[in-house]
Amino acid sequence: MVKKLHRKHPHTPTRCALMIAAPSQDWNIFQQIFVEHWDGFKRVHPRYNKPYYDGLVDKMLRCGTPEKMGYIEYRCPQCGEGKHLVAMSCKSSLCLRCAKVYVDNWVSQVSRMLHEGVIYRHIVLTVPEILRQTFYQQSKDVLSPFMRCGVRCLDDVFSRVSGKALKGGYIVVIQTHGRNGQYNPHLHCIATSGGWDQKAKQWVHLDYLPYPMLRKKWQWHLLTMLRQTGKTKEIKRLVDACYTRYREGFVTNVQKGDVPSRYQSLARYLAKYVVSPPISLRRIDHYDGQGVTYHYRSQKTERVERETVAVYTFIGRMVQHVFPKGFQRVRYYGVQATKTFAKMKHMIHEALAMVKSIVKGAIKIIAPMTYRQRYQQSTGRDPLRCPHCHSDMGVWRIWHPTYGVIHDELEAIRRGKYASQAPRAAPAGSPGRTVWPTARGIPLSLSGLQ
Ligand SMILES: [Zn+2]
Ligand SMILES: [Zn+2]
Repeated sequence: MVKKLHRKHPHTPTRCALMIAAPSQDWNIFQQIFVEHWDGFKRVHPRYNKPYYDGLVDKMLRCGTPEKMGYIEYRCPQCGEGKHLVAMSCKSSLCLRCAKVYVDNWVSQVSRMLHEGVIYRHIVLTVPEILRQTFYQQSKDVLSPFMRCGVRCLDDVFSRVSGKALKGGYIVVIQTHGRNGQYNPHLHCIATSGGWDQKAKQWVHLDYLPYPMLRKKWQWHLLTMLRQTGKTKEIKRLVDACYTRYREGFVTNVQKGDVPSRYQSLARYLAKYVVSPPISLRRIDHYDGQGVTYHYRSQKTERVERETVAVYTFIGRMVQHVFPKGFQRVRYYGVQATKTFAKMKHMIHEALAMVKSIVKGAIKIIAPMTYRQRYQQSTGRDPLRCPHCHSDMGVWRIWHPTYGVIHDELEAIRRGKYASQAPRAAPAGSPGRTVWPTARGIPLSLSGLQ
């Protein structure tokens, strides 16, 4: 399968998710913490003593070593001197080094799902403190229903406010950590500013959401979901306690104003909140073998807070946010699901054209960044430009630990890859492409390569 992928897209390193090079001191510290304490941690927390977690740790520890992870080697087709080796990304959800790749991909995925001319709101639905422990213990059973009940709640609120049965469109992302890495599950909902009235076959726009109602509705939907998922005495006691203790409902935040008109890119803005790792590499200040000191910006005090925790607590704060295997963190509901939207697009646009506050085309669709662009952004240097003759370098060799050599340019040349082909004009190089295709039909200078 990988082979096919490369034959089709030999020049798109993003397809195999290459990572940024430049390992930092912090990265070494992060790895060291896991090397020294992962086994001990598992003994104290047997919940994590599973091949799934071992695999994530293992991948993360190998990340950045080309000879273990696989690599793409670039060489200069002009002078044969320039070389550049890129390790493939490990894609472990524990890996902070690959987090940036993950964010970029996330942003472009979500951007593609946003529709021009539609007004979205960013609504955060939270879980009160006394329920978080239960959520953590039953995350496997609770997380999916949790996402669904957020959608039910918003449909319910839209319908109640408008007096019609409405179905909105939603992009829902689940996040389980607060700023300091503690377990704090909540939903980020990108919701349309209204919904589809199936009966009247029309789009109904809602100017505002009544917050008190949203809070109460959210409380009811969340607690009903919990009661149905875990039918134990303990759950019943917690649910009752929640109704007594939180008479105003649960905390929900609605971004003031329409998000797209304030931000050129809703997705980029969301990524900051939503897909940031629990504790980023840059925030680790100190590790002495027993304790880890890191800092974060507190939402409450708006100041940078420092925290020193025992090393097992630190590891716990990282792994407790790993989702069950195959879990989809971003989901699309209602009219936001592509097919449904295509059907109603016209009518939604017509209805929204009447709304004054629309900023047409406010959401910019962002193309995914390529490895080359990411590298250039983080180092200021073009990794695929030959340092000797300044021409663009091309893919020379692709190696994968499981599949072995996927591409070998020298082999291809020896087999006469270019021999019978008439020279062709090189395609115009877009910034994200390497020049491998360009080398086709162009006499290659092979000195120093054989
Ligand atoms: Zn990685
Ligand atoms: Zn060169």
